[in-house]
Amino acid sequence: MLLGCIADDFTGATDLANNLTRGGMRTVQTVGVPSAPLADDVDAVVVALKSRTTSAAHAVAQSLAALRWLQQHGCQQFYFKYCSTFDSTPAGNIGPVTEALMAALNCDFTIACPAFPEAGRTIFKGYLFVGEVPLDESGMRNHPLTPMTDANLVRVLQAQMQGKVGLIDYVTVTRGTEAIRARIAALKAEGVKAAIVDVLNNDDLMRLGPALSDMPLVTAGSGVAIGLPHNFVASGALHPSNNATALTPASGFRAIVSGSCSVATNAQVAHFIQHGGAARAIDAIKLAAGEPEVQRVLAWAKPLLTKGAVLIYSTAAPADVQAIQAKLGVDNAGQLIEQALADIARGLVDAGVGQLVAAGGETSGAVVQALGINALRIGAQIDPGVPWTQSVGASNATPRITLALKSGNFGTEDFFTKAFRILS
Ligand code: ADP
Repeated sequence: MLLGCIADDFTGATDLANNLTRGGMRTVQTVGVPSAPLADDVDAVVVALKSRTTSAAHAVAQSLAALRWLQQHGCQQFYFKYCSTFDSTPAGNIGPVTEALMAALNCDFTIACPAFPEAGRTIFKGYLFVGEVPLDESGMRNHPLTPMTDANLVRVLQAQMQGKVGLIDYVTVTRGTEAIRARIAALKAEGVKAAIVDVLNNDDLMRLGPALSDMPLVTAGSGVAIGLPHNFVASGALHPSNNATALTPASGFRAIVSGSCSVATNAQVAHFIQHGGAARAIDAIKLAAGEPEVQRVLAWAKPLLTKGAVLIYSTAAPADVQAIQAKLGVDNAGQLIEQALADIARGLVDAGVGQLVAAGGETSGAVVQALGINALRIGAQIDPGVPWTQSVGASNATPRITLALKSGNFGTEDFFTKAFRILS
């Protein structure tokens, strides 16, 4: 194993694994810290945690446990993966986890770069853009758990870190790898511990990659991974695989569970419904009142499964989310809905669903846990950041499942139908 990665949520882990796979690294994503050794034919491991929105202390403890496992299994470089929209609050968890991993690795400098140009995430002068608008003008300002109200990432990260945060600006990045290395040396001399990196396109990521070859810890979104596999090829450690994305043919009924309330997912849900897809919303207020929503939804879904994909969603517009949060509390509403969607996913799989899309990072984490899946192999890409995956080492309780874990913000409007078309 060459590269050991720690991802703060499940869809983010898949997103990273997808980019590593595209770079020829045979990649396995594990659900939490693995309890058993993995197969030998693995170049990179992505340990998927659910630590984005837990307490900082919990996120640090989980991340350090993952690091220890990856170190014990021979990884040479480490990658802390967070969201391309830098999802966090002033309490963390990006800053605290970064500093804890740096201390454990005796690492005096790292980068922080959520850029992912293929998915429209770019950084200029330290400001993160989502498509055409700064982060704080994007739908992320209304995120149910981590609303992002400042696009200046130097400022956002500095609020979460004890050490000083700096910037590797775009002029430096365009000058190339040696200029980036020189800038890193200068920042280190100034006592800077972490630097945001400006990135506008994949060429920038390819210039950045070689400058990171000897950095023990990289912290980033998934985009930076585009430039990393080549370092291992150049050093002779990696012989890129050309069938890194091969999966067993998918089988079983088709379903989608969606707990993301992002702008992109709202559009995807609307598109699926407008095009005649079978869809049903879950009612958070009824759930909170202890009504059997899960059983009701499953009773609705089961007879429809033979006809095509069914969608079950809590996806809602910002005003509706706020109304539910005002009644139930933010955390309580989030957990209640995640658990319900996870129970529904479990019920659907028990009813014969073998091809499942989960929309939303936290939602996907809950679903994967409820299905008892320990590890996923990464398959073909559906949209940037979202590949099909397949459970490995499945138990009798959970047969092999072909799964797409979609981060809320990712995917084109027709994602739900396109995803299944790719499998047909
Ligand atoms: P994303 O990838 O878009 O961030 P997540 O699944 O990570 O999606 O986060 C969405 C959060 O919002 C989850 O905790 C989910 O349970 C919660 N949620 C989903 N639907 C609603 C709703 N209608 N009202 C309030 N909270 C909701």
